[in-house]
Amino acid sequence: MPDSGVRVRFAPSPTGALHIGGAHTALFNWLWARRNGGSFVLRVEDTDRERSTAEYERTIMDGLKWLGLNWDEGPDIGGGYGPYRQSERMDSYRRRAMDLLDRGLAYKEGEAVIFRVPEGEDLVLHDIIYGDINVQSDRSSMKTDGSIKDIVIIKSDGMPTYNYAVVVDDHDMNITCVIRGEDHISNTPKQMLLYRALGWEAPQFAHLPMILGGDKKKLSKRHGATSVFEYNDMGYLPDAMFNFLALLGWTPGNGLEIFDRELAAKKFELSRVIKKPSVFDMNKLNFVNQEHLKALAPKTRREIIEPFWRSLGLSPERFDCKYLEDALTLMGGRGRTTKELAEYSDYFLDFGPVKDRYDASEITPERKDLLRKFFTELFGSLKPPDWSAAKLEAAARGWCESNGASLKDVAMPLRWALTGRKVSPGVFEVAELLGRDECWARLARYEFIV
Ligand code: GLU
Repeated sequence: MPDSGVRVRFAPSPTGALHIGGAHTALFNWLWARRNGGSFVLRVEDTDRERSTAEYERTIMDGLKWLGLNWDEGPDIGGGYGPYRQSERMDSYRRRAMDLLDRGLAYKEGEAVIFRVPEGEDLVLHDIIYGDINVQSDRSSMKTDGSIKDIVIIKSDGMPTYNYAVVVDDHDMNITCVIRGEDHISNTPKQMLLYRALGWEAPQFAHLPMILGGDKKKLSKRHGATSVFEYNDMGYLPDAMFNFLALLGWTPGNGLEIFDRELAAKKFELSRVIKKPSVFDMNKLNFVNQEHLKALAPKTRREIIEPFWRSLGLSPERFDCKYLEDALTLMGGRGRTTKELAEYSDYFLDFGPVKDRYDASEITPERKDLLRKFFTELFGSLKPPDWSAAKLEAAARGWCESNGASLKDVAMPLRWALTGRKVSPGVFEVAELLGRDECWARLARYEFIV
């Protein structure tokens, strides 16, 4: 149970899906809460009534759950500091605005409430990641001509602005450390002024480094998938995605790159996050995903791959689990994503895709005669229980030797006829697993056996 007093929050606006930047921020908050046995709070910043939807709120929550980032307090589960949607906290924003008005620290302009930015005050933002940043109050909010721009805290429609609501909520929810993207650094001095005016102690701040695309520009839609769910559909494992996102700005040390949530939560240090922007490198993501894919238990791997087989039009339910698990184990480290692994192993489930890929048109009549002789003898000499990779290979080698052929001459056509691919796991292993009857049927289709 959380008890350390560390309270952090992820505060998304439900105006879009959970994108990579948001997931990264949420993950670092989660890590810091778990590292300290603290609380991870989910607060929905839905003051933009036009663009916020319940649907987006749900998608964001689903995205967090997919990544395994469970929260301790939030709009769905409540908690001691609710409500957890800003739209339900209007009273406290109004009450504090009245207080600032009463004390002459804010003024009205029509229905709007404006905070008067004090002149000549020095502010130091002690950022855990960026270090100390000095700002003069006059410079915290400026017009283009350099003059001070006061801060709107309540808009004329009665809604609070982001900079104001975030301060009131972080204070009221007892947040001890604000961890968010570096794009908010410029907002922080304004928020510090508001803390001061309201007579509150500001929380600690930690701004996370920017995430860049492969072209070193700020990550955006141009770089491909932005919502975390798209990565699920593309065949990335949540555990791998977690691992990969954690590596954007942090590493557990000792060159360790592949790890799980527990290890990350044990080792995470906010002060060791680097401020240099990190690059969202697809090759790295593929590598991390492949490593997690390899490490899965056979049953789990099969369960994860099944929907991907189905989306290729294959029917895993026609086979027993053991057969499918053995097929995936035989695939070894092939496939960087679950999607690729499903594709690369399709021939274990159906001959259809093999026929689509391979038509044996490169085999001359003479070679076909040779293959027919070879396969007919091989199938004549080996039947279950002798139908094993080792015996198949020994028999093939023996035959090639006495017939002046090279193993490749028979093994390549066998590979093509069974898998429809140039590359596969050991072809005799594939033949063993497919079974004698299925191999016969496939070879017969290409007239390699009679
Ligand atoms: N709702 C803000 C955002 O999504 C939260 C920023 C913050 O963490 O203060 O950018």
